[in-house]
Amino acid sequence: MKQKGALKIIDRVFSRRFQREGIQLKIDCHNHSVFSFDGSCSVEEMAAAAAKKRIGVFTVTDHCDVNEYAEQRLGERIPASLKAIRTAREHAPLRLLAGVELGQPLQDIARTEEILALPGLDFVIGSLHNLAGEQDFYWMDYVALSDDELFFLFRRYYTELLELAEWNRFDTLAHITYPYRYLYAQKGKREFLLRPESFDPLAEQIFLTLIRNQKALELNTASFRTMEEVALNRRYLEMYRGLGGELLTFGSDAHTPDRIGAGAGMGLEMAREAGFTHFVYYEKRNPVQVPLDQWEDRETIE
Ligand SMILES: [Zn+2]
Ligand SMILES: [Zn+2]
Repeated sequence: MKQKGALKIIDRVFSRRFQREGIQLKIDCHNHSVFSFDGSCSVEEMAAAAAKKRIGVFTVTDHCDVNEYAEQRLGERIPASLKAIRTAREHAPLRLLAGVELGQPLQDIARTEEILALPGLDFVIGSLHNLAGEQDFYWMDYVALSDDELFFLFRRYYTELLELAEWNRFDTLAHITYPYRYLYAQKGKREFLLRPESFDPLAEQIFLTLIRNQKALELNTASFRTMEEVALNRRYLEMYRGLGGELLTFGSDAHTPDRIGAGAGMGLEMAREAGFTHFVYYEKRNPVQVPLDQWEDRETIE
């Protein structure tokens, strides 16, 4: 199965302009500003920091966890984020795009629809930070769970991720190793018997669903926190590519200027090794290809 149909636009004009001006074409399509509950910097500050790192395309994607719509006043916050991006775009030293990180969209479809109907959205990230009725994986005490409980928790995660993929209203599926971020961080307290391979059939279904629907997978470098998680990201990238996946977005998931573009060198190498030739970014919800060979060498990218 191929995703070729979605890859019609190659941004040649843009890359020529960037080459002429001596700017390397780099993208970072997952970043947070002060409009995210855990963000602290304005859109302008984040965009300026990205430009300093010679990033050419920068997408701000503030959190919109729809299960906390009222508590986080997302009905005001997300339109405010989009407005701030639009305003900053006029003087931005790079291509500044307007996105949103839609968390748990299936947990409140009515609110999700309100967000998707907002004008000016370039990019929608589909995320799963917590299972229905559960707390964010960030807060979980994995040490307290039995091996069986841990297995069922992760099986639920993959199942809900598949439901999210099947829902199909986003552009890219974010950080699929998200719960492992926190599971592996607690390693050392206990030997976990959880084997990610146990979930390969579900992971495969998720990738096949993305490929069939011409939706992208995200390479999220905030997931590169432990060697185990790096290895799992590599494995999933190869699995997705092996099944015919071609649409891959890059995101550092930066919440502060210093994290923008972080891990890009490793991510780039990983994507190349898995057989990808392009990243894509989204403008007006359409994918735009960025050839990997236009990126800087890994020594200068970090
Ligand atoms: Zn996230
Ligand atoms: Zn994020």
